Amino acid sequence: MRLLVVEDNRELAELLTKGLDAAGLAADVVATAQDARDVLATTRYAAIVLDLGLPDEDGLGVLRSLRAREDTTPVLVLTARGGVQDRVVGLRSGADDYLAKPFALEELVARLQALLRRPGELLGRSLRVGNITFDTEARQVFVGDTPQFFSAREVAVLEILMRRSGRVVSKKLVEDQLFGLSIDVGSNAIEVYIHRLRRQLADSGAKAQIHTVRGVGYLIAEDKAP
Ligand code: CA
Repeated sequence: MRLLVVEDNRELAELLTKGLDAAGLAADVVATAQDARDVLATTRYAAIVLDLGLPDEDGLGVLRSLRAREDTTPVLVLTARGGVQDRVVGLRSGADDYLAKPFALEELVARLQALLRRPGELLGRSLRVGNITFDTEARQVFVGDTPQFFSAREVAVLEILMRRSGRVVSKKLVEDQLFGLSIDVGSNAIEVYIHRLRRQLADSGAKAQIHTVRGVGYLIAEDKAP
């Protein structure tokens, strides 16, 4: 489980990473909004600690673009601006929590741990829907105990859906996430991947299905008992 710390104050960033490390949370650090955007385009983090006062851009801009592409990674905003108005703006922009400087490291760690426990997007290494399991590190999918063989792109699409199981995922989000993984997709590609996934999962006795929600997107859900 990796976190991203976006903080331009080097001493504070160092203090944060040490404190997180002591709590068993490894963190990458970037110091500008641009670096945050770059790393977030390709890397999935379990949570983000985001300073608002960054040298090149307001951290809220990073947060807004993250949420605009429906990325639900928990974000804890860290800022010197502790006023009620700033807090409201931060939360309205999609922050999950808000901590004003100066803060106690213990409180930051406790709040992050609470965010990581929050249900919603599945953050674990092993995903499960019905009898489909997905080891996200080994990139291996099983139906029951039987390993399944999909292309890397199909596996990427399945992961996006399984991380949001039971919820509708827009086609645009799937495209954006694939793009973020540097996977180039043609116009009908998503439909093709979904079609292949659906057929193979059905053929191998999966007790979950990928449903199409017309005009909206896709949803993977466990089959209801008859
Ligand atoms: Ca700052």
